[in-house]
Amino acid sequence: MKVSRPRPEWYMTQVKEKVYRTWSHDDKMRIYGMRRQGVPLDVIAQVYDATRIQIANQIRLARRAMHNECRKCSAPLPARIVRRIKAKGLFGGLCKHCEEQARQGKKRQRQKNLKLGLCGTCGKRRVLKGHTACRWCISAGHRRRYQQNLCGQCGRNPIAEGSIALCEACRIKNNQRAREYRYEHRQVA
Ligand SMILES: [Zn+2]
Ligand SMILES: [Zn+2]
Ligand SMILES: [Zn+2]
Repeated sequence: MKVSRPRPEWYMTQVKEKVYRTWSHDDKMRIYGMRRQGVPLDVIAQVYDATRIQIANQIRLARRAMHNECRKCSAPLPARIVRRIKAKGLFGGLCKHCEEQARQGKKRQRQKNLKLGLCGTCGKRRVLKGHTACRWCISAGHRRRYQQNLCGQCGRNPIAEGSIALCEACRIKNNQRAREYRYEHRQVA
């Protein structure tokens, strides 16, 4: 039988609720600026009512973004990716390796969700029978198009025979894209 060992008193004191917060670009840059002016981490944490770790994370993200480095591994980003980030107005980006890792992680999570009978998109609610998402994650637009027997992707053409949701043109386009993806990511021995 498992006997629970008594815990010291400090173990049972109230633990602060973990809060996930989103940081705007401006927040990150302001925090980074404060740190560069030599403001101690504790003081910045107090100003933003955050933990030191949260502040340190924002500083690291801002520094890497400023130096055009991968926000995960700090490898220098190729000019092509830097241009894409600037064009989209994003804050920092991932190198090719980390992006691929993230993609694989997302894919694994999606498959895990579906195996457990959960929505592949949100992973919180039950998946709808015959679908890969829950009621809330299948968009209203998609449902409307389906009801009108229109392509779920472009919404212009009727659903092709033998396809669940796409018109002939979109099906060909998707197949072509999948082929290109497989070719680009093929294993080279
Ligand atoms: Zn990286
Ligand atoms: Zn969902
Ligand atoms: Zn279409």
